[in-house]
Amino acid sequence: MKSEEIKLIDSNGKRLDGRGPLDLRKIKIEAGVLHRADGSCYLEWGGNKILVAVYGPREAIPKHIQDQVKALVNARYNMASFSVEDRKRPGPDRRSREISKVISEALERVILTEQFPRTTIDVNIEVLDAEAGTRCAGLTAAGVALADAGIPMTDIPVACAAGKIDGQVVLDLGKEEDNYGDADLPVAIAPRTDEIILLQMDGHLTIEEFDKALDLAIKGCHIISKLQRKALLDRYQSLIEGGDIE
Ligand code: ADP
Repeated sequence: MKSEEIKLIDSNGKRLDGRGPLDLRKIKIEAGVLHRADGSCYLEWGGNKILVAVYGPREAIPKHIQDQVKALVNARYNMASFSVEDRKRPGPDRRSREISKVISEALERVILTEQFPRTTIDVNIEVLDAEAGTRCAGLTAAGVALADAGIPMTDIPVACAAGKIDGQVVLDLGKEEDNYGDADLPVAIAPRTDEIILLQMDGHLTIEEFDKALDLAIKGCHIISKLQRKALLDRYQSLIEGGDIE
């Protein structure tokens, strides 16, 4: 169906779920939810539910994959078969390989990989419920899980998308907006410097719309970055109060 046929913004400027153009969906982040992982995070973002487990740095096996000067960053994005309306065929496909690759490359920009030669850092991203924007949600949760694992980074990476629906640039597309909208622009940054570590685009934007959408996505990233930090503070505050950390 074409975007002209379905109205995504009503006459009062409200979107299908009642949000204004600059509003994010509701986000909830919890750090350190898994006992066996070195670091973990559970994140809800609108209808997305994502669990991330980080393992490492640990010796890369088999030895021939080892890099003698730095750690390998191996993000694996996986959608559970029950995470979407029509059951998804289990296992990797082109889309999950692409998302794993772009997230691995983004994380590599902030992790101090040269401190851990010959190792791998494995980042397992499990999408339990999917409702558009899962790569941004997965990368954001991965940033928290890496920090929870104590992996040295220049910054905690964070992601958010902006897009265009009914001819208007808006923040954080929902499911119908993703399906019937004009464009989607997922962006990830290192928030201290605003260095862009991931940028993809689906659909068409003019240069002016692109600039506006990029600016909006970065603003969204800064809001979410605060939630990431709060989740980590909550986690370590409770450990300190519980006497687990000196
Ligand atoms: P992102 O989740 O990062 O926005 P896409 O734009 O590729 O990535 O996907 C948009 C949404 O489409 C997903 O969040 C999910 O809700 C849905 N989707 C993706 N793959 C499938 C699939 N195999 N079956 C059903 N729905 C899917």
